[in-house]
Amino acid sequence: MSLSQLARSISESPTLKLNETAARLREKGEPVIHLGGGEPKSKAPIDAILNCTALLNTAEVRYSPADGIPALKKAIIRYTEEHYGRLVAPENVIASSGAKQSIMVALHAIIDPKDEVIFPVPYWVSYPEMVKIAGGVPIAVTAQDGGFQPTVQEIADAIGSYTKAIILNSPNNPSGAMYSRDFVAEIVQICEKRNIWLIMDDTYNRLVFDGRAPVNCYDFTDQDVESSKLIVVNCVSKMYAMTGFRLGWAVASRELVRAMTNIQSQETSGPATPSQWAAVGALNGIQSSIESLRMTLENNRNVMCARLKAIPGVQVTKPDGTFYCFPDFSAYEKSSQKLASLLLEKVRVVVVPGKEFGMEGRVRMSYCGTIKEIREGIERIQWAIDPNSPNELFLGGRKLVRDWV
Ligand code: PMP
Repeated sequence: MSLSQLARSISESPTLKLNETAARLREKGEPVIHLGGGEPKSKAPIDAILNCTALLNTAEVRYSPADGIPALKKAIIRYTEEHYGRLVAPENVIASSGAKQSIMVALHAIIDPKDEVIFPVPYWVSYPEMVKIAGGVPIAVTAQDGGFQPTVQEIADAIGSYTKAIILNSPNNPSGAMYSRDFVAEIVQICEKRNIWLIMDDTYNRLVFDGRAPVNCYDFTDQDVESSKLIVVNCVSKMYAMTGFRLGWAVASRELVRAMTNIQSQETSGPATPSQWAAVGALNGIQSSIESLRMTLENNRNVMCARLKAIPGVQVTKPDGTFYCFPDFSAYEKSSQKLASLLLEKVRVVVVPGKEFGMEGRVRMSYCGTIKEIREGIERIQWAIDPNSPNELFLGGRKLVRDWV
């Protein structure tokens, strides 16, 4: 078989792979605790379901315009006005099959071979691969202070003649850290000055804690949407717990949206119509589910952080938002892959190795599940790594004896 160079250079999404592994083990009756997941467990808003089923009940489910149905664009325009204070036109909006596709078609629309795309470490696992699929070169910038936010200077130092875009994801998957207003402001300014695209991946920006407010990148520019190189990406996936609907969107200049639409029209003909109607329902319906999810996540975060801090040697930075925590286990094991494999193999707890996000010694742990899962998962982890914990653990009716630490 002769696969393309591209196919051979792209790796499988490690998070989706872990989902499969967890599902396979569960099917075999293994007592798996999945702390590696990336989706809330709450239900989709009723308005989304009603709108979607109303279309399905007609039994007439047709193609939609490649950039989205007018009703969805209208809902996105309203959302943008309410949450970003920007009145945009339908031509500034493209709906896609998830935020992922919006980012992907944006990259296809702006990247020429060898163009560079900068993003801070830790980064969402998909950015490097998506940039490569678009023919570009991913440039990950690590904070020299070992933290979750490089300095503006560190980002600026990475900019060169090939730099085409910067991607910022705040709050961040996997660290849960929110970049400061000043940082976002300066990056917006730098991008304008250097004529670089800025993709703001705002997937989690409504899921922030401790009274924080989402940072609105438009606050830092005087440019109108047409002259701006800002690409603002959102989705219904996380804030409305609608991951399976696969519906996201981007707001950008007409010229870019037109180019993205052309590409998307040739790739998928646009997002699935039932999902678009579901998103219209979610965006125009009762919004209380977001706050209720946010409060649940904040409480879950507190429980997870408190439990992790109780493990001697584990370093935890309290996440500002998302449903991920990115603790440092290097006191026990420097290789995040070894640690993740040990936890899965020995105590059936799924976590994602930090290496996938560009940072070693850490693992990504999700707190989007139940408190019971969080507590039990961390108990099992502590048992597996801490030599001071009792030597035996009962797991799904089986007695485990720790003989590895
Ligand atoms: N951006 C980030 C940072 C994400 O974590 C995810 C989903 N894991 C996405 C984008 C993609 O969202 P969607 O499911 O809407 O494609």
